[in-house]
Amino acid sequence: MNRPQNLVILGATGSIGLNTLDVAARHPARFRVFALSANERIEELAALCLLHKPRYAVVARAAQADALRVRIGAGAAEILVGAPGLEQVSAHADADSVMAAIVGAAGLAPTLAAARAGKKVLLANKEALVMAGPIFMQAVRAHGATLLPIDSEHNAIFQCLPKSSAGNLVSLGVRRVLLTASGGPFRDTALAQLENVTPDEACAHPNWVMGRKISVDSATMMNKALEIIEAHWLFGATPEQIEVVIHPQSVVHSMVEYADGSVIAQLGNPDMRTPIAHALAYPERIEAGVDSLDLARIGSLDFAAPDVARFPSLGLGYRALKEGGTSPATLNAANEVAVSAFLERRLAFLEITQVIEAVMNALPARPLASLDDVLDADAAARREARRRIESKQAEA
Ligand code: NAD
Ligand code: MG
Repeated sequence: MNRPQNLVILGATGSIGLNTLDVAARHPARFRVFALSANERIEELAALCLLHKPRYAVVARAAQADALRVRIGAGAAEILVGAPGLEQVSAHADADSVMAAIVGAAGLAPTLAAARAGKKVLLANKEALVMAGPIFMQAVRAHGATLLPIDSEHNAIFQCLPKSSAGNLVSLGVRRVLLTASGGPFRDTALAQLENVTPDEACAHPNWVMGRKISVDSATMMNKALEIIEAHWLFGATPEQIEVVIHPQSVVHSMVEYADGSVIAQLGNPDMRTPIAHALAYPERIEAGVDSLDLARIGSLDFAAPDVARFPSLGLGYRALKEGGTSPATLNAANEVAVSAFLERRLAFLEITQVIEAVMNALPARPLASLDDVLDADAAARREARRRIESKQAEA
């Protein structure tokens, strides 16, 4: 085997970051932890630095750099700060693979930097692709980066597509991609009951343990709306070629339907170490610590159509994709602001999608030609969402 791959893990203290470290640590001859980043949890980052001995550690603020240095000692990792630090490690000449596992728009710049440096980009941070799809994909092509999806659905679709996935889906004989959705914690909750659900209830996902933002996204099904847009950019699927199907067991991670009627599915236990290991070792296969799938114990796999009346976010996802331009960035930014307001108990659960729809109505799609257009749309949508949330609070 060649020398170990140097791994950069953006968002190392999060759910995806920790699962990545778990898989990497099983294969010390293949992977070396090159850089780790964290936003708030400096104690945890210090422990990870002592364990994995990265060359770089990136923190958000200067005061955290001091706190980290005290904990890991001089001579350990070189400590970098803020967005420039993240971009420096992502584009570093010695970095091979970059796990983009920062949550939300904050992950865009370093993920784009990795693409522009031609790295192997393992993309968990779907928000980056939703916001800046055409710019991100252009950077991947122009700089010869390798983009591998970590999102379990997209990783499944990638595995079900033909090896050479050059060309559009129709030329590959693909009719549709079928994105599965667990339906989240409120799959069977009546609309009237959804009015008063709490952040903790929304974050109690039945099948996956995830960060709080994506957990709320799963509860509103905005996560699936973002994934519809993500599938468009990753695979060139049109809105008509993307179908969402509810599958409560989260065993079928997604499917690809071909012109001859064949449907190829990827199955497994709901454990993010499977897509992470797949992408880390691609095109080889490695042990990920995941149990064998016990279909006899699971017994049955259920499927149903999504309830678009209780979960209007799905419609907003298709709408943003059809409108194009800045619309997905607007949707994403409004969602981030509304979800944090919900988590801080400043907004009710059902108001999350109401705010997003109102922001999309107020800020019609504009063409998206540069990263500045993305950042402008993101900032405008955040302002508009905050204004609407404040006026709702004033009413209440
Ligand atoms: P998480 O909240 O557990 O972790 C987020 C990480 O990002 C943390 O390390 C945190 O320090 C860092 N971070 C947060 N804000 C930051 C900022 N402003 N600047 C720099 N770093 C910041 O989230 P997660 O569940 O691991 O999800 C990470 C990403 O992966 C999200 O985009 C999510 O949609 C995607 N994803 C997660 C899962 C999952 O199972 N957890 C599945 C599919 C996709
Ligand atoms: Mg997913």
